[in-house]
Amino acid sequence: MKPLGPIPPGFPAVNGILSVGGRPVTEWVEQAGDTPLFLYSADLIRARVAQLRDAMPERLALHYAVKANPFDPVLKLFAELVDGFDIASGGELAVVQRAGIDASRVSFAGPGKRDRELEAAIAAGVTLNCESEAEVRRALGIGDVLGCTPRLAIRVNPSFDLKGSGMKMGGGAKPFGLDADRVPALAREIVGAGAEWRGFHIFAGSQALDAEAIAETQEQALELAAQLARQTGASLPHCNLGGGMGIPYFPGDKPVDLALVGERLGQRFAALPDELHETGFCIELGRYLVGEAGVYVTRIVDRKVSHGEVFLVTDGGLHHQLAASGNFGTVVRRNYPVAIATRYDAAVEEEASVVGCLCTPLDRLADKAGFPRADVDDLVAVFCAGAYGASASPAAFLGQGAAAEVLV
Ligand SMILES: *Cc1c(COP(=O)(O)O)cnc(C)c1O
Repeated sequence: MKPLGPIPPGFPAVNGILSVGGRPVTEWVEQAGDTPLFLYSADLIRARVAQLRDAMPERLALHYAVKANPFDPVLKLFAELVDGFDIASGGELAVVQRAGIDASRVSFAGPGKRDRELEAAIAAGVTLNCESEAEVRRALGIGDVLGCTPRLAIRVNPSFDLKGSGMKMGGGAKPFGLDADRVPALAREIVGAGAEWRGFHIFAGSQALDAEAIAETQEQALELAAQLARQTGASLPHCNLGGGMGIPYFPGDKPVDLALVGERLGQRFAALPDELHETGFCIELGRYLVGEAGVYVTRIVDRKVSHGEVFLVTDGGLHHQLAASGNFGTVVRRNYPVAIATRYDAAVEEEASVVGCLCTPLDRLADKAGFPRADVDDLVAVFCAGAYGASASPAAFLGQGAAAEVLV
């Protein structure tokens, strides 16, 4: 039997059934009228933000990375909870605007921004985290044409990466940001052109669980920001220190020691060099804020045995849960936390694989794991589904279409 990932806290059994937001999943499914279904718990999102605010220095602002979960009710909830929003496309700009989020709270990173995306962002007053000299010059030109002052920051490609991170976004040759040695000249160009100078964006990686590594990366980012500010010769209004905090998905994963990260950052903030005295700092997080608050619920359509192995065939799959199937940037497939939601507190009785309804061997939500005996019409829950589930899976594949989403 292969182990399953750890079920996040906050998901109790009520009368043997998984409960989300105070109600059994069977009721949410009935209300939605169909499976598969994403459920996002507002209480768990609120609790996570509160935890983070508690642990981090007060001076540190908190941004939400929209790409993790751009569902409108989730964005509206975050509008009350966080200080800023980070977007990565013109499409995400439209989504945050539709949610009523003020553009002054939004920053826009991402390589390959098209002119019309720059135009929309500059016209709205969004801060651009510019990824190259060419992008800065296009933004300045567009600002002139529109008669608006662009708000420009530079995304720095740091020479360090976040150790142990699932996605490395810095260190060496990267399509993201500008190599640090070219940053001061470009910053002076921005200031000289009369744009609103918004400082640096230093993002070194994501999905790290090692608090020590996160703290070290933040310290390196602060040192780099101070050095670049000194070389630029202009005061640094703002610095985005990146993110990086991951969540436990797999067997043996342990949550980030937030207290350690907060304490170390607090020490650094207490002893900032002169260049950074007036600087506003933020971190930007996606999955850490919303990932564990989401559950994907799918129904067993068939129960099959092949060569002695049990397959629970569901009406969901990798078209909504690409990462849980092991096909989104993982090298070795491991099991996410998965449970039979309708036999949630029953003992393990058999080894079974939970598969999706797609005609591909890649479509596996749990591989040879231990479950209570489940049958047709039982519901399966895939946890850690709040981030990069609906937003990062190929919903159109095989004509399946998107799953319903509900904030509860
Ligand atoms: C993806 C991304 C994030 C969010 O990453 P998480 O792992 O979801 O926290 C933040 N900032 C940038 C620049 C990103 O590309």
